[in-house]
Order: sequence, then C-alpha cells, then structure tokens
Amino acid sequence: MSAGADDYLAKPFDPRELEVRLLAGRRILDLHEALRVQATHDALTGLWNRAAILDLLQRELFRAKRDGSPVGIIMGDLDHFKQINDTYGHPTGDVVLREAARRLVSALRRYDFVGRFGGEEFLIVLPGCDLRSLATRAEALREKVCGTPVETPEGPVPIAISLGITASEAARDQDAHLLLANADKALYRAKSGGRNRVEAFGVQEELQA
Ligand code: GH3
Ligand code: MG
Ligand code: MG
Repeated sequence: MSAGADDYLAKPFDPRELEVRLLAGRRILDLHEALRVQATHDALTGLWNRAAILDLLQRELFRAKRDGSPVGIIMGDLDHFKQINDTYGHPTGDVVLREAARRLVSALRRYDFVGRFGGEEFLIVLPGCDLRSLATRAEALREKVCGTPVETPEGPVPIAISLGITASEAARDQDAHLLLANADKALYRAKSGGRNRVEAFGVQEELQA
C-alpha cells in the first residue's frame, strides 16, 4: 500500500469480503471522477472552466502545428448583461447565462470546445477552422444565441452577444496569449461597433502591427 495501492486482500480470501472491498474501490474511483469534473468545469453553466479551456487551447495549438492545420478562436461576451441583472435580478441573470451556454453548445460540433472564460464571457476553440469558415460559424453562433428571448420566471428576456474571432495560421508557431489578445481586440471592435455582431482580427493586421 505504501507503493500507492488503496487496499489489498491476502489469499485465501472470502468472496464476500472481496465484493465489499471492490465496492469501496468503486466509491474511490467515483469520487476521483467527480473531483476531476469539478476541477475542470464551471458550476453554473457546466462548460469548461477558464483553466481547462486554456489547457485545451494550448493542446489544440500544439496538435495543429504538428498537423499543419489552423485553429479558430472565438471570444464572446453577452451584451449589456449588467442591465439584465439590474432589470430582472441576479437569479434571472443566472438563468440567462445558463441558457446562453446551452445555446452555444448546441450550435457547436462535438470536437469544438467552449469554456466560461469570465463572468459572461466565453472562449470557444474550433480545431481545423480557418478565419474564413470561422466567420460563418461565429455568425451562426450569434444567431443561435440571440434568436429568441430566454424564457425565465420573470418573463422572456432578449439577449445579444458580441463575438471577436481570430485563427492561428497553419504551421505557424502561434502563442496562445497573442491569439487571445487578438480575439479580444476583435471583440472590443464588435462592442464599439454597436454590439450584437462578429468582428475578425486577421493575420494581415498582426503583421502590420
Ligand atoms: P457589455 O455589452 O459592454 O459587455 O456590457 P455588460 O453589462 O455585459 O458588461 P459589464 O462587464 O459591465 O457587466 C458584466 C456583468 O456580468 C456584471 C456582473 O455582475 C455580471 N455577471 C458576471 N458573472 C455573473 C454570474 O455568474 N451571474 C450573474 N447573474 N451575473 C454575472
Ligand atoms: Mg458583457
Ligand atoms: Mg464581460
């Protein structure tokens, strides 16, 4: 056990004792799994949490460099969310956040990743997606999120989201922090341009900067 085992039985053993010790082992495994999920997921929305989505982004960037494929990044932020809290109350704000997260997930493919990056901010990682197809995907996400008001106990609440997009170039060594900063610049542009829209930060701009 000092080498790391949780339990042992000496032969000959009682089958009934083996059975109950296996049950105890199963409890330990279930607990580990629950802790792993808790450590990597956001409790409110069930999305990846900030640390986990950053890990996933890094992993996808390594993989993409090896494969010579691009990685699309979307930074999304709900519009005037403070106003939703102020108007309908914080618990309704939570309902809206959960529903926005659910809509994002439902609009993504199985191999895309979405995380809650901050309060009402989401980071989405799309392996294999270049800037051109990313623009289409982001617009579809925006329409999905904003399409219908969210039904809440306080009544229907209209929502909107601004999205900043950027993509790592295939085979180019790209720093996760630089990509995030670029997606953030694009998001800022979407906000200052009137919100509820998609803006892109392209490689050309990066080279000019
Ligand atoms: P903008 O369009 O510029 O993004 O405006 P905004 O109001 O969405 O942005 P701001 O950063 O001013 O406000 C974000 C608000 O999100 C403030 C904060 O109270 C709220 N918020 C953050 N996390 C949660 C949460 O878990 N639940 C609820 N209900 N509100 C949250
Ligand atoms: Mg906001
Ligand atoms: Mg915000």
